[in-house]
Amino acid sequence: MSDAQSVEADGSASEEVPLSGADIEPDEEKPLVVENLRKTFGGIVAVDDVSFDVEAGTITGLIGPNGAGKSTTFNCITGALKPDSGTVRFQGEDITGLRPDVVANRGLVRTFQIARALDEMTVLENLMLSPKAQLGEKMWRSVFPVARGEVIAQEKELREQVWETLEFFEIDHLAEEYAGNLSGGQQKLLEMSRAMMTEPDMLLLDEPMAGVNPTLEEKLLERIHDLREQGYTFLLVEHDMDVIMENCERVIVMHQGTVLADGTPAEIRADEQVIEAYLGENI
Ligand code: ADP
Ligand code: MG
Repeated sequence: MSDAQSVEADGSASEEVPLSGADIEPDEEKPLVVENLRKTFGGIVAVDDVSFDVEAGTITGLIGPNGAGKSTTFNCITGALKPDSGTVRFQGEDITGLRPDVVANRGLVRTFQIARALDEMTVLENLMLSPKAQLGEKMWRSVFPVARGEVIAQEKELREQVWETLEFFEIDHLAEEYAGNLSGGQQKLLEMSRAMMTEPDMLLLDEPMAGVNPTLEEKLLERIHDLREQGYTFLLVEHDMDVIMENCERVIVMHQGTVLADGTPAEIRADEQVIEAYLGENI
């Protein structure tokens, strides 16, 4: 019979070694912990032994030159890709390799992964159909009078939640507009609204400012800060270096599949390796 734990000659267990995986105490302070993540595509090592964590209630930036492995890392975290090795822990639980919808249900939501806005539907309809808003799913319940009352009450609650969300993102005036008619920035606000309807704890935003005009960008950033103050956690991939430096308390820099630097914006700006990786770019 073998025992993983080593036993001293006198029979007592040797000094306790922390075990990996589920035995580690959930770390409330760090909802997301990525350890030794690796993902290859054929001969290409897209993500090579990447480890980092994200502290609760922060906006953490993930940057790096094109091809650095940011999207692949995001995809491995949210379940769109299965990593070759390594672990992803969310709120103390191992979520490595779980399906994207399962990950989202746990409260880790990636904006681009929420089914894109349905262009043929209005903004209001898009929100009513968000993942956690599926009240009609258990149709049989409405057969019973009491349950029907419950469904109606839930629908009323859902409607209120939808309007609150639309007002929060200041797109309530667009409620009856077809999603396909919205500007790039308005679509981003809709995407964020849809993400919030799923009641997440943490949001992974992949270039939320791309194609957004400065006014709406400002609005989107304000909302992100408001939500962060309410306790939401953000991991933000963004190409616009100023946005990252001005809005993130912590920045993780990836380069050629690895984590090159991890620190405050000031530390990142002063990091020789980062400067070299971004040679010619203004950081
Ligand atoms: P980033 O998002 O930082 O620009 P990616 O994660 O998209 O970087 O890509 C990292 C590396 O992995 C690149 O060399 C890219 O060409 C490669 N890669 C990404 N996805 C695939 C894929 N599905 N098949 C093959 N190679 C891929
Ligand atoms: Mg990318």
